[in-house]
Amino acid sequence: MTAEQPSATEPDTARRLAAVTRRLHLACERAGVLPGDVRLVAVSKFHAPPVLADALETGHRHFGESRVQEVQSKWPPLRERYPGTRLHLIGPLQTNKAAAAVGAFDVLHSVDRPRLAAALATAMERTGRRPDCFVQVNTGDEAHKSGVPVAAAGAFVKECVGTYGLPVVGLMCIPPYGRDPRPQFALLRALAAECGLRQLSMGMSADFETAVAEGATTVRVGEAVFGPRPRH
Ligand SMILES: *Cc1c(COP(=O)(O)O)cnc(C)c1O
Repeated sequence: MTAEQPSATEPDTARRLAAVTRRLHLACERAGVLPGDVRLVAVSKFHAPPVLADALETGHRHFGESRVQEVQSKWPPLRERYPGTRLHLIGPLQTNKAAAAVGAFDVLHSVDRPRLAAALATAMERTGRRPDCFVQVNTGDEAHKSGVPVAAAGAFVKECVGTYGLPVVGLMCIPPYGRDPRPQFALLRALAAECGLRQLSMGMSADFETAVAEGATTVRVGEAVFGPRPRH
């Protein structure tokens, strides 16, 4: 079943995933980048294995989850059945779960403080696993929001790489709710350029096309792919 040949028997998830992929490719075209240059992470938090299997059956392999425990209980059989699956941690990470996260995830999008960076470095040394890391920046400088403050981002990236030896590949942000996200995305892109980082994890269901226009290399899309999240 290809994206071009929808059918009545195709699961909703497969149809929505194909639609999001088409929108993403159009956004790439408008931005003048190749479709393969922007990775779609399908955010599957709170969704059950049969729904995830519908997405995996289409060939999709990159998924975002927000909780270490949920991944440990939900994903091992799916990973075995669908080789090449890559799991992205997109939620806040407690320092005491750093080792478990290094074991369970392939990409970490929420590195945002020195104690966490140190714990990740220790876990990577012990296990030999080195998931790619994004430094999360609080681009709106909102109180109580995860992410390193804008003014501290450059120094923190240096610390992650220089002091802790983390494989930092880029920056990530979650723009303030209800505000125009575009200036936030532009700010993240400028910060990444200052840090010499190439990758930008930005853009969700409501704004991923805008994020691509501002240079996103990874978009994290949940509800547009899986529909409304179940209550948890
Ligand atoms: C839940 C979540 C997403 C996906 O959000 P949607 O609005 O469902 O696309 C993306 N990024 C982060 C950090 C999230 O927590």
